[in-house]
Amino acid sequence: MNILVLNCGSSSIRFQLIETDVEQIAGNTDRRLARGHLERIGGEAVVTLHANGREPERLTAQLRDVRAAVEFIIRWACSEASGISEVQSVADIHAVGHRVVHGGERFTHSVLITDDVLRGIKDCIDLAPLHNPANIKGIVAAREVLGAGLPQAAVFDTAFHQSLPERAFLYALPYQFYRRHRIRRYGFHGTSHRYVAYRYRQLRGISREETNVITLHLGNGCSAAAIRGGDSVDTSMGLTPLEGLVMGTRSGDIDPAIVDFVSAKEGLSPQEVETLLNKQSGLIGISGLTNDMRELLAEARENNDRRARLAIEIFCYRAKKYIGSYLAAMGGADAVVFTGGIGENSPEVRALICDGLVWLGLELDEARNAAHTQGREGLISLEGSRLAAYVIPTDEELLIARDTVRSVRGIPQRF
Ligand code: AMP
Repeated sequence: MNILVLNCGSSSIRFQLIETDVEQIAGNTDRRLARGHLERIGGEAVVTLHANGREPERLTAQLRDVRAAVEFIIRWACSEASGISEVQSVADIHAVGHRVVHGGERFTHSVLITDDVLRGIKDCIDLAPLHNPANIKGIVAAREVLGAGLPQAAVFDTAFHQSLPERAFLYALPYQFYRRHRIRRYGFHGTSHRYVAYRYRQLRGISREETNVITLHLGNGCSAAAIRGGDSVDTSMGLTPLEGLVMGTRSGDIDPAIVDFVSAKEGLSPQEVETLLNKQSGLIGISGLTNDMRELLAEARENNDRRARLAIEIFCYRAKKYIGSYLAAMGGADAVVFTGGIGENSPEVRALICDGLVWLGLELDEARNAAHTQGREGLISLEGSRLAAYVIPTDEELLIARDTVRSVRGIPQRF
C-alpha cells in the first residue's frame, strides 16, 4: 500500500510517501517514494520536495492554510513532474497516517480515524494545546482533499508509554488532581522509542519479551525510555515534553518552585516563565549561543567557549543520570540505544554520556563509536561489554506507515 504520512505542526508539515505492506514487513521491503517539508504555511511557504532517486527541489508557494498545503502535496505527488511512478493519481494513495502528539489515556495504540476518534483527539487538546489542534487540522484537511472514504490512521506519540506502571506515571501530588484533571506522566517520542526498540531486537535476533534496553532519543527534543520485556516502563518526559533531559531549548527537570521565583524576580507571568522554560532554556539558555549541538561542539572545540562546554557537559551529565536511575528501576538492562539527530551523529556526546560507566559494565569501543554517524546503525560498545551500546537511527514515519496499514487491514498491533 502507498501511505501518505503527515506530521502537521502549527505552520509547517513534514510528509513522506511510503510503500509498505504488512506481509512484507519481515522482509523489510518498504520503499520511501518521496518526502518533503513545508514551512511558513499561511503565506509565502518555503517548500522542499524530494522524490526518491531525484535531486531535492526547493521552491516557494502561496499556501494560505493547512488544507492548501495538503492539496499542494497531493497535486505534486500525482504530477508527472514529481516523477513518482507508483503514484499517478489520487487513487494511488491508499491511506494516510498522521502523527498525533497527545492521545491521553484513551489511545493506547494506533487507530483508524472515525468521528469518535477525532472527538477523542479534541478531548486531549487541554493536554497538548499547541500540537493537537494542528494535528486535527491536518486530519480534516486530508479528509476534505482526499475524500471521507479514504482511510486515515492516527499514531500517537504518547501511546507506547501507556504501559507505564502507576508508580512511574503518577506524580506525588494530591491524588485527586490525577482523578480530576488526569495530571500524570504521559511521555512523548513514543513512536521513536518503539521503533528503535523494535530494530534493536531485529539486530540482536531476540524476541520482544527479551528486549530490555534504555533508549535515548537525543534531538532538538530529548527523552529517555526504560523498556523492559518490550514495554515502556518509565520515560523522562511528563505531562508535557518539558520534563526530563536537557534539550535544545527546554530546561528538562527543574525545581518547580523556580517558576514562582523567576516570575517574582523578573516580573513575568507564570505563562511567560513556562515559555522561557520551553523556548529559551536548555542548550541555548546555558550557552547563550544556540540550541544546535553541532554548533556548540564546534564552538567548544575551536574557540574553547566556556559556556558552550558547560551546556554540553550539563546535557551529558543529565543523560548519564537517567541511565543510572533507569538501570536501578529496571533491575539492569542489556543495552543503551542512541537515536535522534545528536544520538545518531555525535560520537563525542555519546562518549561523554558513557564516560565513567565502566563500573556498571558499559565499555564503549572508540573506533566503532567514531564510525557510527550519518545513519549508520550498529554496535558501538566493545564485544563482551556487559551493558552494550548501540546507535539506531530512528524512523518514526516508517512505523506510522506500517501502523496505518495494520489499522486499515484490522491487523492487531504489537507495541
Ligand atoms: P533532530 O531534532 O533529531 O533533528 O536533532 C537535531 C539536533 O541534532 C541538533 O541539535 C543538531 O545540531 C544535532 N546534530 C545533527 N548532526 C549532528 C552532528 N553531526 N553532531 C552533533 N550534533 C548533531
